[in-house]
Order: sequence, then structure tokens, then C-alpha cells
Amino acid sequence: MKPDDKLNKREQPRPMFYLWIVMGVIILGAIFVPFFTGQGTKPEAASLPGVVDAIEAGEIEKIIVRGDEIIATKTDGTTLTARKEANISAIEALQFIGTSPEVLRELPIVVEETGPGMFGYLSVLLTLAPILFIGFLIFIAARQMRGGGVGNFPNQFGRSNARVMSNTAEQGVFQRPVVTFQDVAGAEQAKLELQEVVEFLSEPDKFLKLGARVPKGVLMAGAPGTGKTLLAKAVAGEAGVPFFNISGSEFVEMFVGVGASRVRDLFKRAKEQSPAVIFIDEIDAVGRQRGIGLGGGNDEREQTLNQILVEMDGFDTDTNIILIAATNRPDVLDPALLRPGRFDRKVILDRPDVEAREAILKVHTRGKPIAPHVSLANLAKLTPGFVGADLENLVNEAAILAARRNLTLIGQQEFQDAIERIVAGPERKGKILTDEERRVVAFHEAGHAVVMHNVEEGDPVHKVSIVSRGMALGYTMPLPENDKYLRSKEAFESEIVGLLGGRAAEELVFKRITTGAANDLERATKLARAMVTRYGFSEVLGLRTFGEEQGNPYLGSLGETRDYSEEIAERIDSEIQGILHKSYQKAKDILAKQHDKLESLAEALLERETIDRPQFEALMA
Ligand code: ADP
Ligand code: MG
Ligand code: ZN
Repeated sequence: MKPDDKLNKREQPRPMFYLWIVMGVIILGAIFVPFFTGQGTKPEAASLPGVVDAIEAGEIEKIIVRGDEIIATKTDGTTLTARKEANISAIEALQFIGTSPEVLRELPIVVEETGPGMFGYLSVLLTLAPILFIGFLIFIAARQMRGGGVGNFPNQFGRSNARVMSNTAEQGVFQRPVVTFQDVAGAEQAKLELQEVVEFLSEPDKFLKLGARVPKGVLMAGAPGTGKTLLAKAVAGEAGVPFFNISGSEFVEMFVGVGASRVRDLFKRAKEQSPAVIFIDEIDAVGRQRGIGLGGGNDEREQTLNQILVEMDGFDTDTNIILIAATNRPDVLDPALLRPGRFDRKVILDRPDVEAREAILKVHTRGKPIAPHVSLANLAKLTPGFVGADLENLVNEAAILAARRNLTLIGQQEFQDAIERIVAGPERKGKILTDEERRVVAFHEAGHAVVMHNVEEGDPVHKVSIVSRGMALGYTMPLPENDKYLRSKEAFESEIVGLLGGRAAEELVFKRITTGAANDLERATKLARAMVTRYGFSEVLGLRTFGEEQGNPYLGSLGETRDYSEEIAERIDSEIQGILHKSYQKAKDILAKQHDKLESLAEALLERETIDRPQFEALMA
């Protein structure tokens, strides 16, 4: 998506540019014009009586009057110049000195227009300069108020900032790589649903003949980075129509009413180029339920939203425009946006599963120098929870690592290091721990690993390390065998026990506990709470759920509204504490039984720093 931005068509030629040209021309003119209008050969200076004498002597052929200068051309071609006083005419002056009227009558006298001269031009410029300067300041100020806009003239506040990208390759001027469904990997279901939209855009008649009401709006929902923007572009690319791209937050700017007029303008321009795709990113910025009043400034948002709805309703049956909106918060959208005839198609983009991840990796490694032994299937297994954007980033990080290692091909090792870097943060170089602290970290991590290995339904341990990364002093990386859609109560319990294994090992070995377990405890508490309040796993509190989650659980939540009594709240708290306590006992029991394994793993970590899966399994056997 990034390379396209450069090719976006600029809406307006840059006004700054014109301003500079105009100023430049004026300045150059002021400097050079006087030189060019000046006389060619330097004339001989003379006094006025001298000129009169020459006239009387019949030596003068013609007289030119230019301002206060009297230029007399002699019959032999030379010229005499004299100055007269400013307030009398040349003829008066000549007569006054004593030229006879008869001679004057015979003599051709040409009066020339005079230019303003160098000082004249300069004074015009000096008068104009402050005006130009003030105009310039106003222009800059207006631009800033628009929020550092794209460079539109100030009288175009209401114009939409939509960037149009033509997907049709033949529109030569701003050619860009065409994004098609081929570039979107893994999202088969979504592509299938959008195929219909593509067909409508490319052959609308087929649908209209049968009287079918064609879709107007498609809402794409999915976690950030799952490819919503990419897919919207691909729809336009497949159909070969222009793509208008605007973000919801761009509608909401400083001046009231701007949003609505931008919407009008955007639709007008799209209609001119129909068939077309209009893509509204982050529609939740304008499309939140009206009247909820989160964060003020609702009037503007409501007007903008209303304008979008009005425009959508105003589509004629033959307006071949499809609106695609994207959001990662479909739950907060105004119901009016979602009713039939508006954004009534909903396409959900899931986090990619193992096969989809492999396909996405394939797309992004295309054309890159990948070592032949790299297994994308393997990498896909190592990256549960990664979305398309993460995988793209992974390939890029691996390429950077390979370059820094002066390799010609990107190898499996680079990919694996890149995964770790993304999951756990960059490695921290240099000695940051004392020897005593290192021992504590080694036993802490060994505790996690040994417990995880010994609980039922635990995930296999992929890697244990005491190399500090990001915020963590060490880490134990479990790796689920396959993507899980259903999790059992036992799996939850085992995960909590595994999380508490670090603290348990510290207590058991050193009889002294540290702050190293803070993050483990937080995560364990969250899991225990979810068991009680969301999944009905607690025997004491039963099946009912507690607290209404605002927001979709896997798209991120806004918080919780409490729908239970004070008394229940106490019971929930004590139940959570009970689960944590029981799990901690279990972790300690496991470690007490496996003390020798804990010891040998910790020693191995102190020696080698990182233990991978085969080494770990050999130690546990
Ligand atoms: P979203 O709009 O959902 O936040 P984007 O469409 O901007 O995500 O995706 C970001 C980048 O991630 C894309 O430019 C693309 O390179 C990559 N990506 C995401 N999903 C996919 C996919 N299914 N196939 C290939 N690349 C993908
Ligand atoms: Mg996006
Ligand atoms: Zn820990």
C-alpha cells in the first residue's frame, strides 16, 4: 500500500509555486526593464542655448522630446542633448531662448512617452511588496487552519481530500501497480463475498436487467492489519475502476460543516468517474452511534454521517458506485449505517489461520532472494496470531537481518530471529544483570518451562531463553501445535499454572521472591477473571456471565459495564483468588517433584542462554 501513496494524484497544482513565479517576474522586471528602454548610443551633452544655436544654424534635422530631455539629431547623424525645466514645454523653452518660430515650424518635433525609469519601477514594487506579503501570510494561516492540508486554495475548504487512484493501467499518467485479488492471500471467504461486488462494477447491466437491487455499501470489519485496505483496493483493481480513498477522521476537522461538504464533493467527483469505488477508512470516526456523546464535537460528526446517508440514499439505480467502509470497531457503528440499502454487506476479515499465513508469506516473499531450505509452512506454524501486516513486517525484518549479516539469501535463521524480535522485542545487548540476578532469571524461566511441560493440555515449549528482550529479562515461548478455536477449561487452568511456574520456582529455590513475576501475575489474573465472568467455568458462580463487555471480545474492548450486585462482586473476587491460589499450589507441587529437571534446565540456561525445543525435550526425557 505504501508505494501507491506516492502516485496519488495531486488535486491542485501547488499555489505556492505560482506565487513565487509572479513575485520573481515582478522583481526581475523592475531590475531589467529600465536598462532595455534606455537609449542606445550615448549622446553629446549640450546646453539649451547650444541646441538653439545649432537649430538656427540649420544643422538640426529632427528633435525628440523625452521627459525633460531635448534630443536634437544633427544632419551628420550625431545628437545633442539638453535639459529643459520641468514645468514648460519644449517648444516654449526653445522659443524662449530665441529660436525663431519659422524655423521651429519647419523642424519635426517628436514627443516620446517616458517610462517610469528605474526608480519608478522600484517604487511600484515597494508599494506592492507589503500587499503581497500580507496576502502570503493570510494564505499560510489559512492552510494551517485546514490542518496542514494537501495544498488546496483556501477557498476550497469544503473539498474532499480524497485521493483518487486509478486502477486502470491504461490511464497512463499516474500508472501504478494494480492490486488484485491475487495480492490478497488467505482471505478466501472475503474474496468470495466481494466477487459479486466486482461483477457489479464491471458488468452492471447483467444485474439491472433482472431488476436486482445492487449492493451500495460493504462494511469490512477486522482487526488492524488483516488487509481491509488492501482488499478494498483489490476490488477496484479487479473491476478496473478508480478508487477514491478517504479516512473517516479526515472528515472531522476544525470547521463545522466542512465534513458534510467534503462528503458532497467526494460523491460528486466519484459520480463523474463512475463506475468507481469509494473507500472510507476508519468509518467509526464518523459513524459512531449518534447521541452517545463520546468525546464531544458530535454535531459535526452527526452532520457528516447524515450527509453520507443522504448521498447513499440518493444513488440512482444506474449509479455504479460502491462504498466500502472499514472499521475495527463494527460494534460501535450507528445502526442507521447498517440497515438494508446502506452498508448491508458485511465482510469479516479473520486473523489468518496456518494455511492463510503460509499463503500470505508466499505473497510477500515473492521476488525476494529466499534460501531454498526456508520452509514457509514451518514459519506459518511459528507465527500463531500474526495478521497480514505482521507477516509482511516479518519478511521485511528477516531481509534486514540478512543484509546486516552480509548474506545474499534470506535464510531460515533470519526468519526465526525476526519472529523472536517481533514477539519479544529486540535483544538487549550488553550485561544488564548481575550474576545473582541471572541465576534468579534462569530458575524463573526454567520454572515456567518445566511446569508447562508437565501440565495436562499444555502447549509444547518452543524456546526458553534468558537473553533480555524488550521489557522481559527472559522468556519462555510456548507454541500451540495448531490454531485453536475451542479451548477447554483444563487448558485455561494449565495456562495459569504455567504462568505461575516462574514465581513458584523462585520461592522453592531461593526462598525469596522478586518482582520478576509481575507480568505473569497480571496475565494469570486476567485469565482467571475470564474463566469466572465470561466462560462459566466456575462451579460456585455458575453459568451466568458477569459484566457486559462493550466491544467485540477479539477486536478489543472498551471496558465493562457492571450488571451484578456488590455481593456477587465479592464472590467473583474470591473465586478468582481461589483459582490463582490452587494453580500456584499445583505449580509448586510439580516443581517439587521435578526438582532435578528444574535444576539441570536452569544450569543449561546459565551456560547456553537459549535452549530450543529439541534440546529442551532431551533434557526433560
Ligand atoms: P488494515 O487496513 O486491515 O489495517 P491493510 O490492508 O492496511 O490492513 O494491511 C496492511 C498490509 O498488510 C498490507 O499492505 C499487506 O501488505 C499486508 N497484508 C494484510 N493482509 C494481507 C493478506 N491477506 N495478503 C497479503 N498481504 C496482506
Ligand atoms: Mg487500513
Ligand atoms: Zn515469568
